[in-house]
Amino acid sequence: MSSSFPPSLKIAWQNLSNIPAKQYECSFCGASVAPDKGWYGVNPGNNRPTASIFICHQCTRPTFIDPDDRQYPGKPFGQSVDGIPEQSLRDLFDEARNTMSASCYTASVLCCRKILMHIAVEKGAAPGDKFIKYVEHLSENNYIPPDAKGWVDHIRTKANEANHEITVMTRIDAEELLSFTEMLLKVIYEFPAAIKKRITPPA
Ligand SMILES: [Zn+2]
Repeated sequence: MSSSFPPSLKIAWQNLSNIPAKQYECSFCGASVAPDKGWYGVNPGNNRPTASIFICHQCTRPTFIDPDDRQYPGKPFGQSVDGIPEQSLRDLFDEARNTMSASCYTASVLCCRKILMHIAVEKGAAPGDKFIKYVEHLSENNYIPPDAKGWVDHIRTKANEANHEITVMTRIDAEELLSFTEMLLKVIYEFPAAIKKRITPPA
């Protein structure tokens, strides 16, 4: 997500307390942390600690853990991908991952479709075509690894279901398309960028 508040900017929270440590994956910086600084609140009925706000010791951003041990903001789905050259594409992928933690599955699917269409056009597909045509274009031009080509049929079935009607996507639908999108982004951007770094001598 783009923000005018850069992730490198640290926050010096005032009046922090020591609280029992809790391990979680910080949704801001992606680190697995177990901070023991923040604040806790008690249940007014029995005065027992019931919920806490933890401050990540890596990035200093706050995370709320509710009485049912749920985390807000939740951790994004899947893994981040390095080497994506365009900021707008990076933002869209972040958005697709973040909407999962808010259970917005249809929104995540729509973000992934937009990402796949964008990549296909960048790789020579004609703009303004059907979503499935873009996936087929990526497959026919060997951007989809041979053992992953079964995905194309699966996505075709799903795309047909969603044609001409408003279809609310399930968590499984969203997880599948997001995993596929992540794989493709890694193949197309992250791995080539990583090897380029290795074979390019430092200036
Ligand atoms: Zn953090």
